[in-house]
This record gives sequence, C-alpha cells and structure tokens, in this order.
Amino acid sequence: MELFAYSFRIDKNIVRHCFIKINNDLVIAKHIKVTPSSILLLLPHCIQLSVCNYRLSHNIDNCHRCGKCPIARILSFRDIYGFKVAVASGGTIARNIVSVTHPQCIIAVACERDLTSGIQDCFPIPVFGILNSRPKGPCIDTLVSLSYLESVIKLFCN
Ligand code: SF4
Repeated sequence: MELFAYSFRIDKNIVRHCFIKINNDLVIAKHIKVTPSSILLLLPHCIQLSVCNYRLSHNIDNCHRCGKCPIARILSFRDIYGFKVAVASGGTIARNIVSVTHPQCIIAVACERDLTSGIQDCFPIPVFGILNSRPKGPCIDTLVSLSYLESVIKLFCN
C-alpha cells in the first residue's frame, strides 16, 4: 500500500489511515469478547509527560498519578476493568511485551507509522489501533482521547 502511495504521490499517512480503519473494522466484525486480563493495552512512551522523572518502561506503576499526562487516567481504567497495560518505547520492546503477556486481543495507541507496522507484526493476534494526537509535534507529550479509549476497552471486555 505504501508503494502504491509512493507511486501515485499520495501522502503515506492517508494510506496508513485507511489501513488502520480497515483493520479496525475487521477486528470489530469478529465480535471479540475476552476476559479483561487477556487484553493488552500498548502505549507509546511519548504519551508520558516529557518532563516526568518516573521511568515507566519496566513498570507502568512507577507513575505517581499526578494527572499531568494521560497515564494517570489510563491506570485508573486498568484498575476498573482489569486489562494489562504497558509502555513500549519501540517495536522490539512491544514485541517482547506481547510474547511475555500472551494477549488474546491488543489495543494499541500510536502514530500512523507505528500502528501500521505493529498491526502487521502482531498478526494473527487482533490489534485495534487508536491514533494518538500530537499537539506538540511528533513523539513528544502526545495525547489520546480517553473517552474513546474507554469505549474501545469496553467493546472487548467480556
Ligand atoms: S501522570 Fe504524572 S507521574 Fe504519571 S507519568 Fe504522567 S506526569 Fe508522570
């Protein structure tokens, strides 16, 4: 698809958006309902406030829940629903987390490029992709719609 975009000089992210949308529609069509502990929520490290001093890559519970970035609310969702959640600082770490946690379903928050590659890397595990927003530009202090994220979590929880 990216070669197609390159050949016809279409913005790669438009093609990636389409891929993510089609993927998500296919995942929804499977009507997946699993125990919450079988759901893995993968977050990009850039969702953590860039000036926060706590290291979350090995343990997201190192967050002190000050509320200055989305991690605090996401942890409260985790406490309510019981899914697994981890911060991945790259594709290799994300793959390691997946191989250790053995999820039946993955919800991934990331940019177009990382979601597109992550969805393909995790096949055949279904991955629902949620695009982050980047008010300060790429890879720094990124955000995610928490209400939308919660609705997606509910969609897959049995
Ligand atoms: S909620 Fe506060 S303590 Fe937790 S990661 Fe964000 S800035 Fe750091």
